[in-house]
Amino acid sequence: MPVDDLPEDDLLNRHRAVLPSWLALYYSEPIEIISGDGRRVTDSRGRTYLDFFAGILTNAIGYDIAEISDAVREQVDSGVLHTSTLYLIRKQVELAEKISELSGIPDAKVFFTNSGTEANETALLLATQYRRSDQVLALRNSYHGRAFATMGITGNRGWSASSLSPVKVSYVHGGYRMRGPFANFSDSEYVAACVDDLRDIVEVTTAGDVACMIAEPIQGVGGFNVPPDGMFGAMKEVLDEHGILFIADEVQTGWGRTGEHFWGIQAHGVVPDAMTFAKGLGNGLAIGGVVARGDLMDCLKANSISTFGGNPISTAGAKAALDYLLDNDLQANAAKLGSQLINGLRDVSVESPVIGDVRGKGLMVGIEMVGPDGRTPSPAAAARLLEETKSRGLLVGKGGLYNNVIRLAPPLTLTEEETQEGLAILTESITVVDKENKA
Ligand code: PMP
Repeated sequence: MPVDDLPEDDLLNRHRAVLPSWLALYYSEPIEIISGDGRRVTDSRGRTYLDFFAGILTNAIGYDIAEISDAVREQVDSGVLHTSTLYLIRKQVELAEKISELSGIPDAKVFFTNSGTEANETALLLATQYRRSDQVLALRNSYHGRAFATMGITGNRGWSASSLSPVKVSYVHGGYRMRGPFANFSDSEYVAACVDDLRDIVEVTTAGDVACMIAEPIQGVGGFNVPPDGMFGAMKEVLDEHGILFIADEVQTGWGRTGEHFWGIQAHGVVPDAMTFAKGLGNGLAIGGVVARGDLMDCLKANSISTFGGNPISTAGAKAALDYLLDNDLQANAAKLGSQLINGLRDVSVESPVIGDVRGKGLMVGIEMVGPDGRTPSPAAAARLLEETKSRGLLVGKGGLYNNVIRLAPPLTLTEEETQEGLAILTESITVVDKENKA
């Protein structure tokens, strides 16, 4: 029987039988999304949800955006889904020109991949090759992907499925700030402590000649952890003293999501040597890539290729998505509605001890859930909030080192009414979970 004709329970059983056990599913009753429109999706049982997580996952702009679908359809109608990246692809060139210009990196060149993982693998390949070193710095609690090297630079135990790594990694502070040795430091004390830690690691524990440091400007999977503005600028001074390259992983923070800047790293007053991107760029199409200084990009002496990276369909869709984002100034929308969301949630948190922290920038907002003592991480409260919001018609995300952070990242086309609707559902749901937390 085709999957479409089966009740949902059977689909779940069939999923479990043939897909890996470690492929996590959200919700006690996982949903199957069958259609989308704007910021809303409908599942196979006919329930409609306001989607406050799709913006980070894939649909940075929204569902069923005519301009993007038309660009993809036009390519499909040509009869060429893809031939090979061995030939010229007009949309790939146009998209690379646009990204290179937006990057702020001098003489930037772009290499397209199919995912964030591949983008980071490529950035690591470039940096280690350029510097002829296999030593890499990453942040504690980072997430950079699922392949061998990217898992090696992922400093988050919940996602470190393998301890083996083709690169030699040292983890530095600067990620999750709410707990740990620098938890009660002021912004300037925190930055100074992270810079000292970095210097100590580079000068004491590595063999010198480190290839690069890679960092998410705001840690995504790690729980939307926002470092003090300027922190990466201060860290880069140490890197520069040693010629160490700096790679910003913009997979979650790019394309205006943080509201105040187009790239998350711009809050730190530095231009990285390379940036990686994926997820939202294609608004649902598989595309990622690296934008890097020309000499860094061109350091490989042998051919390299990605068969599907930058194919005509994904680049046509991504170019249309990027044009839409810029033409409609969605970055400004993220700034405006993001602060409404953060302020609204901060008001709720005053009455709700189950919320330990509300943080974020633009439309990237994290709610850290804690136990009755107001401090201990509560993955149970986060799991309950996820279910409560779903039952009221709102989809949200989860993450954090302790899996106790609710993550909100609505599509960038979010409206003011939808922001208020989401806030109202969150407020009701938090009140329920807060009561249970005290009981
Ligand atoms: N970097 C970051 C910051 C990410 O959040 C992710 C995905 N969660 C990745 C890299 C990996 O991207 P992908 O899943 O497309 O391989």
